[in-house]
Amino acid sequence: MNNPFDLFALPDEHEALREAIRALAEKEIEPFASEVDEDSRFPSEALTALNASGFNAIHVPDEFGGQGADSVAACIVIEEVARVDASASLIPAVNKLGTMGLILNGSNELKHQVLPAIADGEMASYGLSEREAGSDAAAMRTRAKRTDHGWVLNGTKAWITNGGRSSWYTVMAVTDPDRGANGISAFMVHKDDPGFSVGNHERKLGIKGSPTTELHFEQCELPRERIIGEPGTGFKTALQTLDHTRPTIGAQAVGIAQGALDNTIAYVKERRQFGKPIAQFQGVEFMIADMAMKIEAARLMVYTSAARAERAEKNLGFISAASKCFASDVAMSVTTDAVQLFGGAGYTRDFPVERMMRDAKITQIYEGTNQIQRLVMSRALLR
Ligand SMILES: Cc1cc2nc3c(=O)[nH]c(=O)nc-3n(C[C@H](O)[C@H](O)[C@H](O)COP(=O)(O)OP(=O)(O)OC[C@H]3O[C@@H](n4cnc5c(N)ncnc54)[C@H](O)[C@@H]3O)c2cc1C
Repeated sequence: MNNPFDLFALPDEHEALREAIRALAEKEIEPFASEVDEDSRFPSEALTALNASGFNAIHVPDEFGGQGADSVAACIVIEEVARVDASASLIPAVNKLGTMGLILNGSNELKHQVLPAIADGEMASYGLSEREAGSDAAAMRTRAKRTDHGWVLNGTKAWITNGGRSSWYTVMAVTDPDRGANGISAFMVHKDDPGFSVGNHERKLGIKGSPTTELHFEQCELPRERIIGEPGTGFKTALQTLDHTRPTIGAQAVGIAQGALDNTIAYVKERRQFGKPIAQFQGVEFMIADMAMKIEAARLMVYTSAARAERAEKNLGFISAASKCFASDVAMSVTTDAVQLFGGAGYTRDFPVERMMRDAKITQIYEGTNQIQRLVMSRALLR
């Protein structure tokens, strides 16, 4: 029977995209994932493959040289890369994070300056957090002062993903200290701007292939037109960006969880104890069922949230926080169960599930910890 009922089904083009990115990820990224983690090195093979295929920043609108892919498509790319290597998935994810404020609120001139380079393979990062201003990001101290020619930035950002690898940085800084969050502005900083430098690299539990660095601004001079939107709108831009990118962290979490499940299913069918494959014990079967059930629910929430962002719905706060929070909690629980189902082997670096468990943890922390996501959700509900 030909029944074209397509509610809750992805369009063919999205399924074709998944097929293409999965094939690329398995061939060009997965073979290096373990080594990238072991050596804490940048996944340059992944960058080359993503750039060559145009999957590095498919969210960039076509008028700026990109592919203009929608938010669900961007999630699919990130999910499929994360399924084999979470570190590499931060290339497309953070290219979106580092340019979304500009896309949403920047001038056309600034977009033309930055976005074609990102579509072409350069990278972008997002600089909101500081050492003493993480969850309470509005307490930031980095200052931007207006001069006759433009702006001068002073201060230090912390925890910046792909710091040192990116050419462009969206940086939030205080322009009017008397106005709290309404005295923060957003700027595009280029790596060659005078007074800009990249600081220490963090030594991390997971996503070891993704550099996390400080950014220093010492009398860093920017031309006038590098501000995104009006002075004082930077914190709003930062939060609006997160409404659009938290689903991408959800997608990363779904991908990590799916990778762990796929590896686990293969393993439990092979591994024999008590004279039969461990997949035939009900205790194992039920764990596999629960893992898959949670992933399915998380994926649906992530795609719904991305679709709502793409439609530019108002009040995205609840759904974007919920999708990131739920999916990352699922990733942590599924990867922990995956290690469990591998037994002793799961605790070694001979199999990828321990890496996936370490990588999953960050999805509960960055772009706002899951406590902060619950704050965002409850505020939206109780407003
Ligand atoms: C690997 C990595 C990559 C990152 N990448 C970036 C990036 O690219 N750009 C960027 O700007 N930032 C980035 N971050 C920063 C990240 O977003 C922050 O680490 C995160 O928001 C938490 O801030 P914090 O580390 O200062 O923790 P804190 O704010 O000190 O929180 C510590 C604990 O207290 C809890 N807590 C704090 N306030 C509350 C509250 N009101 N209610 C309940 N609990 C609360 C938190 O949930 C957490 O459990 C990255 C961080 C890491 C580790």
